[in-house]
Amino acid sequence: MPNNAFRLSFIDHSVYVSHTGNGNFNKSSSPTSGSVKVTNAVELTLTANGAGANILNPGDPAKPGRIDFFAALKTRNPTFTKIGELTGTIQLKTGGVPLFDCKSAGKDTFFVPDKGNLIARSDFQLDLQFDQKTVTSVNFPMRLSLPWQFNAAATTMLLGTELFVDGTSVASVAQNKPFDLPMRHTNVPDDGVPNDPTDHPLLTFYGIGRLYARNNAQLGSQKIRFQGHRVRVVLHQSVITRFVGTNVPLQSLVGAIEATLQDAGFGTNVDVQHNAAAQTRANAVFMPINGVPVSVNMQAAHRSSFAASVIAGTGGAGITFQDTEVVNVDFFDFFVYAVSGDPSGDELGRSEMLLPITGSTHGGIVGAGGRNPQKALLKAIEICVGSSTTGVGGALAKIITTDHVNLVASTICHEIGHSFGLRHSLSFDSGNTKYTINPPKGKTSKGVMGPGSIVLGASNVGPFPAEFFGPVHVSVIRDQFL
Ligand SMILES: [Zn+2]
Repeated sequence: MPNNAFRLSFIDHSVYVSHTGNGNFNKSSSPTSGSVKVTNAVELTLTANGAGANILNPGDPAKPGRIDFFAALKTRNPTFTKIGELTGTIQLKTGGVPLFDCKSAGKDTFFVPDKGNLIARSDFQLDLQFDQKTVTSVNFPMRLSLPWQFNAAATTMLLGTELFVDGTSVASVAQNKPFDLPMRHTNVPDDGVPNDPTDHPLLTFYGIGRLYARNNAQLGSQKIRFQGHRVRVVLHQSVITRFVGTNVPLQSLVGAIEATLQDAGFGTNVDVQHNAAAQTRANAVFMPINGVPVSVNMQAAHRSSFAASVIAGTGGAGITFQDTEVVNVDFFDFFVYAVSGDPSGDELGRSEMLLPITGSTHGGIVGAGGRNPQKALLKAIEICVGSSTTGVGGALAKIITTDHVNLVASTICHEIGHSFGLRHSLSFDSGNTKYTINPPKGKTSKGVMGPGSIVLGASNVGPFPAEFFGPVHVSVIRDQFL
């Protein structure tokens, strides 16, 4: 049994967010009418409990101490995941005031995060502060990555701690009483763009620090049946010509795309194809017009203006298409092309474009509820080559060559994610009272549906790890397709 002589607890640094109805919000340190509690930071503090055997007496020399951090979704029987551990020394000063010191031996002792996928991949982040009286650190504030988990029926996460003295537990997770972290944000504008409810509706997002929506951006809510299908990603020859080489070996790229889509919930039913037969399939449905892979059925009078409009970022606005101008392809087939240039804004590529043709349901899906759902496409996925400073080229120039595969694979999977109707992830920027695609300074975005500009915008870029779909988006994929 834990010794029971100490208690770790968190001082609440939550803010109460009240939305102004147009995507902006105000924040307050106390609840207001209709406000939502958002926890950005917690402050760790230690108290003496005065119970149990005396593992440390007042005035005793400091002993080695350790604080383990845990988190779990708040369900009836929470399953805690270890987040990481903090080491230092612990003592009871004369008079009985406890001190957990991370600055022992004259230097800060760094937090060691857990290496498991739930933590290593996560961009759910919380600032951990120290009261600097009973728990001290010069590494302040520290950032905790919370497990990348989501359950629509349990949208509060618990943060727990366990304290050890000389390797012996003296305060268990239950004794320290886990702290509630709400994950739900209401009235968040899509893409973080306020005052534009038509293109950027106000939605509910979930997460801690980094947030994800469950609403489908283009398909509606009807289930589209994956059973009996495979996700087939065709890499057009242009992708191989423009991106594959010494730093992006073809098999590594194939493996990285497959790993991301498998992890999203499609299991082993994922193929990335690039052989001659795949090129023939691509050429049967799309033709490059100024590089833009346009439906082979598009009437000649529309092709050039459509391609120009896509390149300009207006997506064919103003062109009235006939139903016959699309190609119908299996919903789970994705054709990926490389194109010159750079899309505007935060993107590194451009997604498929569906046309809601007569008789189609859910934004261009044909046979959504049946065995063979298809997409009515005006164009395929494009990955923008850019230059040495723009687009994927510019991003690659800023990261180490061993991460190039991850960037190209993530960009392709990002555009596939849009085909599944997934929206961009956002950051809650408490300091500037807004939601932003790019994370605030010092914070990160690790999910596939985050911004490509995280690489382009930074002057000093660290590793670009393999990216995966975040747990909220995985729940959307599971609910809608699997
Ligand atoms: Zn995007």
